[in-house]
Amino acid sequence: MAYKFIDNYREKGARKQLVEILKKRGIEDEGVLKAMGKVPRHFFFDETFWNQAYKDIAFPIGDGQTISQPYTVAYQTELLHIKKGDSILEIGTGSGYQTCILMELGAEVYTIERQKALYDRTIKVLPYMGYHPHFFLGDGSKGLPEHAPYNKIIVTAGAPFAPQIMLKQLIIGGILVIPVGNEKEQKMTTFIRLAENDYEKIELDTFRFVPLVGHQAW
Ligand code: SAM
Repeated sequence: MAYKFIDNYREKGARKQLVEILKKRGIEDEGVLKAMGKVPRHFFFDETFWNQAYKDIAFPIGDGQTISQPYTVAYQTELLHIKKGDSILEIGTGSGYQTCILMELGAEVYTIERQKALYDRTIKVLPYMGYHPHFFLGDGSKGLPEHAPYNKIIVTAGAPFAPQIMLKQLIIGGILVIPVGNEKEQKMTTFIRLAENDYEKIELDTFRFVPLVGHQAW
């Protein structure tokens, strides 16, 4: 496959404007804003749609899935409070854009996707861009026990509940960020693991995600 990865002044300028939009919408974390300003989001789009890549909108990536809205990516990332070297499990690789943002913040990322076509694309595109997460194909609703525990877990699809088996894969002090609700809308929810069997749960804003599909999901 021949990739056309050109990042010229037009795309760079559009990315700067996107960062300004994110600031206005309330994203404050300097590291997150820097990462959003660095990762070329248009690389995840067919060239025909490059003019859509820096709008603050979700966009279809094929196979009935979407690349998340930049604001949503920044919002979830900010909630993770990433420190360099954090081990992060990402459930729902999708296009791989969120994965790159996590890696820009210095995380070691384990990312799992259930759709083979998307998995096949990201295992080629991300290394080509210089990003080398650990890729997995399968049902992430059960987490990824073989590489647990994680400092942080991020779920990028809408779940009916936060699976216990996933919560158990956090270190003490670890954070899970997961959209929880019905199939139409979900509340962004964070769980902080305070002790072996004690979690602090915080419900935040409402979003609309594609469904998390699997054993511990829809
Ligand atoms: N953050 C991604 C991005 O920037 O492109 C978008 C993720 S998309 C909104 C949600 C992804 O979760 C889809 O690719 C979907 O196939 C995947 N997904 C849904 N259920 C899953 C599961 N049980 N395990 C792994 N991936 C799942």
